[in-house]
Amino acid sequence: MRTVTEIVVATNNRHKFEEISAILKGVPVRLIPLADYPDAPELKEEGATYAENAVHKARTIARFTGKWALGDDTGLEVDALNGQPGLYSARFAGEGVTFADNRRKLLRLMESVPTEKRMATFRTVVALVNPSGETHMAEGVLQGRIAEQERGTGGFGYDAVFDLPELGKTYAELTSEEKNRISHRARAVQKIREHLKKIVGV
Ligand code: IMP
Repeated sequence: MRTVTEIVVATNNRHKFEEISAILKGVPVRLIPLADYPDAPELKEEGATYAENAVHKARTIARFTGKWALGDDTGLEVDALNGQPGLYSARFAGEGVTFADNRRKLLRLMESVPTEKRMATFRTVVALVNPSGETHMAEGVLQGRIAEQERGTGGFGYDAVFDLPELGKTYAELTSEEKNRISHRARAVQKIREHLKKIVGV
């Protein structure tokens, strides 16, 4: 892989941009939000796996900008729902829904599920692509459980219903620093961080 000074983060989700920026802090690379490219192509999630989606997002933006790009695809896999919503986490309650709609649907489906059967896993795949299309991927997972009701106001998406029993808190009750130390995304992006450090020689 050639050396890298700038990376476009291939997401329209500003929370993800902030988390990825915080986790990569200290690596001498400038992260550029996708909002700086208002004409960028739409990033569709049509792959059969998180990896396909993450690579598609990063390659699309690397091709469009001529720069390095980082794509992320994430899903929440709930044991009692046979791994759903998984790949369909963003549109669980339908197309164009809000984060709150998705959380409500999840809590409704989980209403009669007892505490000991509420296990869930957050999974993220991150793809780093250079302007020639060379790709490096990393995965991060974290296990938790689906809370009985929403708790906390931080974060985004399913954070308020993803409970970490050993901390007694949901992701939304953690500070962003705490979430970025332990999260599924942190675990994936830390691996990318190590890879980037080798490329830039720090
Ligand atoms: P995607 O990677 O944007 O497709 O994410 C799928 C769904 O999971 C979206 O509804 C996101 O809001 C949600 N999501 C992604 N990452 C997180 C996270 O770190 N915490 C909570 N929800 C997340």
